[in-house]
Amino acid sequence: MSLKRIEIQGFKSFGDRVRLELYPGLSVIVGPNGSGKSNIADAISWCLGEHRASQLRGSRMEDIIFAGSDKRKPVGMAEVTLTLDNETKTFPLPYEEIAVTRRLYRSGESEFFINKVPCRLKDIQALFMDTGLGRGAYSLIGQGKVDEILSSRPDERRSVIEEAAGIVKYRYRKEEALRK
Ligand code: ATP
Ligand code: MG
Repeated sequence: MSLKRIEIQGFKSFGDRVRLELYPGLSVIVGPNGSGKSNIADAISWCLGEHRASQLRGSRMEDIIFAGSDKRKPVGMAEVTLTLDNETKTFPLPYEEIAVTRRLYRSGESEFFINKVPCRLKDIQALFMDTGLGRGAYSLIGQGKVDEILSSRPDERRSVIEEAAGIVKYRYRKEEALRK
């Protein structure tokens, strides 16, 4: 499974629509300070289900919507689509590619889509559970994260190992069943 494409519109410094194609192997994003490199990582993490504004380096979720620049007016909606290849059937869906879209309007309203079909944030989180992607998983290693894992409490470290072992979904389903 790999990330094939990132489409960003109205997210943080990306007022215009930007489409990044990623090819097999290593991709590196370079640019001057403040040019938006970390914003791309934030866009990925947000689309994968991050719901804490602090993790996206903001104080409110609305901070992720393009606030305007010298040349461009602010916009009313942020949208990010990640296209993942599903040739190895990591995701139990009958598609070669999985496109996950997340939108946020200034009104606070959110929309989520999997291959253009509307869904809930919960569905996206469930889709990524145990894949190593998803909120807080180890696919995104931010600055200081390695240190954080090494110095975390055993139960916190255990959650990283459970995600890698692919058993989080069973724990989640058990908790859901016990709640009903
Ligand atoms: P560095 O090399 O210093 O880490 P970077 O390339 O990672 O820089 P980012 O942190 O991705 O840079 O981008 C910072 C820029 O994004 C700032 O100029 C900031 O004003 C802009 N920015 C963040 N949120 C928004 C927003 N909602 N609207 C417009 N611009 C924004
Ligand atoms: Mg940065």
